[in-house]
Amino acid sequence: MNILLTGGAGYIGSHTAIEFIEKGHSVVIVDNLVNSNHFAIKRIEEISRQKIPFYNIDVADIANLDKVFCKHKIDAVVHFAGLKAVGESVQIPVKYYRNNIDSTLGLLEIMEKHNVVNFIFSSSATVYGNNNDIPYNENMLAGNCSSPYAWTKFFIEQILKDVAVVNQNFSVVLLRYFNPVGAHPSGKTGENPNGIPNNLFPYISQVAIGKLSELKIFGNDYPTKDGTGVRDYIHVVDLAKGHVAALEYAEKHKGAEAINLGTGRGYSVLDIVKTFEKANNVKIPYQIVGRRAGDLSEYYADASKAVLLLNWKAEKTLEDMCRDTWRWQRQNPNGYDE
Ligand code: NAD
Ligand code: UDP
Repeated sequence: MNILLTGGAGYIGSHTAIEFIEKGHSVVIVDNLVNSNHFAIKRIEEISRQKIPFYNIDVADIANLDKVFCKHKIDAVVHFAGLKAVGESVQIPVKYYRNNIDSTLGLLEIMEKHNVVNFIFSSSATVYGNNNDIPYNENMLAGNCSSPYAWTKFFIEQILKDVAVVNQNFSVVLLRYFNPVGAHPSGKTGENPNGIPNNLFPYISQVAIGKLSELKIFGNDYPTKDGTGVRDYIHVVDLAKGHVAALEYAEKHKGAEAINLGTGRGYSVLDIVKTFEKANNVKIPYQIVGRRAGDLSEYYADASKAVLLLNWKAEKTLEDMCRDTWRWQRQNPNGYDE
């Protein structure tokens, strides 16, 4: 199949491109590089040993997007493109709604024009909001979101479900990611945050390499096993393989289906620090500070629907996540800035 990856130069998109190619598919990437780097495309090409058609355009720019669909016969779309910083979305909500929702609407218009009906969407566990019990399962009512970012995912899910009602041929899988971490085992692709990282894994790896002096652990008074926050971390390569499985499912089905991509297991911040230290033989100095506003104490996936419908489950361990993150960081101390 010929698969369009919007946001394919980004962290998850680049790893997913590699897995699709590995399975014999062709990919076309559209990305405006607002949060990524063209060197990521070069690295995908290095790993997969082939040239990738890449277009530096905004997905909301439908005139140029249309040209991409005219040039390539697209069979399916995986829509990663979006702004994703939760905290930033609270500060500049209009920019988040405009970017994430407009780009999806434009994409849907062009897909309809070209009669493309298979769609995989990068949703998020944040759609489960504040009030659901753990583990989160797909039958729970989503909503009560705690940031504009999460609401963009919630609204886009709704838009896609509405399209599936009227277009009987449309097939969409709403993949609700938990916490993607890690890097390609080659060390050539990985997470490349701008400035000081917000997320735990890139922060820890920058402490390990000496760019940051110590980790600040946001709270040790949560009702969890050691008081620190618990999340369901999933290796980005497992997550990428989940997209391959989701597309195989989408091809054979119609309608909209929300599916969690997580491991089903929660680890605390202290678990991560200890495992990272042990797996990589490094020291991570840390300090406990106050809770971060908006953080939930603990959540993880009920990962059974993905097993049932996609015949997919995460296989990599927390040690793999820590080792691969560190290999990427060590080999690329400045990320993709070559
Ligand atoms: P990322 O920022 O690395 O990748 C997103 C890519 O989209 C970037 O390359 C960016 O340049 C591009 N982009 C953004 N807006 C665009 C637009 N209008 N037109 C063209 N390109 C545009 O993020 P990621 O971690 O790879 O996440 C991919 C998707 O998964 C996002 O939609 C994100 O919200 C979602 N997601 C991520 C996580 C996570 O923790 N990483 C968790 C849940 C969901
Ligand atoms: N965390 C932390 N220090 C940091 C970054 C994150 O203690 O510098 C904690 C955070 O409070 C949460 C966990 O690590 O309990 C995962 O945070 P991350 O930002 O990676 O993911 P999210 O909050 O989106 O689940």
